[in-house]
Amino acid sequence: MLRIGFIGLGIMGKPMAGHLLKAGHNLYVYDKVNEPMMELTALGAIPCKNSKEVTEKSEIVFLMLPDTPDVEEVLFGVDGVASGIKPGSTVIDMSSISPIATRRFAEKLKGQGVEMLDAPVSGGQIGAQNATLSIMVGGKVEIFEKIKPLFEKMGKNIVLIGGNGDGQICKVANQIVVALTLEAVGEALLLASKAGADVTRVREALLGGFAQSRILEVHGDRMIKRTFQPGFRIRLHQKDLNLALQTGREIGVSLPNTATTQELFTAVASDQGADLDHSAIVQALEKLANFRMGEK
Ligand code: NAD
Repeated sequence: MLRIGFIGLGIMGKPMAGHLLKAGHNLYVYDKVNEPMMELTALGAIPCKNSKEVTEKSEIVFLMLPDTPDVEEVLFGVDGVASGIKPGSTVIDMSSISPIATRRFAEKLKGQGVEMLDAPVSGGQIGAQNATLSIMVGGKVEIFEKIKPLFEKMGKNIVLIGGNGDGQICKVANQIVVALTLEAVGEALLLASKAGADVTRVREALLGGFAQSRILEVHGDRMIKRTFQPGFRIRLHQKDLNLALQTGREIGVSLPNTATTQELFTAVASDQGADLDHSAIVQALEKLANFRMGEK
């Protein structure tokens, strides 16, 4: 059995770490919030006082943190991973963060004899709970092959995209598709609803045709039922679209609809808060239409 560390036990990290624990590994956990750590401890995980302690006790360390500065702090900050890690260990960052910073982090860790994989995921909270995540990996093929059995405990579609940072590039592309699809589902259901159609039946009909998608299924249902507790927070999707827009500017790729969708997220965030589920984007469209979905 392996000695595995897991840092960041939020909506995604807690169930993902839980799968590694169920597989019988020794799991050392840390989150700056105590509650999820205690829940995993009750299932057999060993709580640690900081990221350094996790790393000292583990041969492989997983991270599932919100954003680039969080990963940088956990890796290289006070009592961070780099201060406790031994040469020959592996760091797997499953957070969605900057591809450029990821390459920098991997290079820095290599200086300590440590290999890193970026392995962001898609599939949301449900995918994390059911171990059906799609995992997009960047790094060396031999490290990927070594870690793959652990990825298989958390996900189904596990693809090595290329070198360090390429997993994150793939995730940025994923987030463009998800954001624009969410926005399209919101527009379509709102139009149908204000035109007087039964929006529940519209969704059902669309699910059987060419417009069907997982987002229409899951988030379309959230929009109709108005279940906007996260799920995937608007602030995290804003972070991902910022990465897309920033990368686009750097390499000369215009992303006009990504930019518009980001503005709609900003409108909802300033009105309702950035911790709602990203399906709440429909509320910005509702304001523009002066109509709430499902009203008569
Ligand atoms: P979350 O906010 O629920 O969880 C993040 C956890 O990290 C929190 O428990 C927080 O306390 C902890 N944390 C933050 N800084 C820390 C630090 N310095 N030290 C220790 N712990 C720290 O976020 P989430 O929804 O689980 O998302 C995590 C990552 O996965 C993000 O990059 C997100 O973009 C990505 N992601 C999320 C989803 C989703 O549906 N929620 C889907 C795919 C990818």
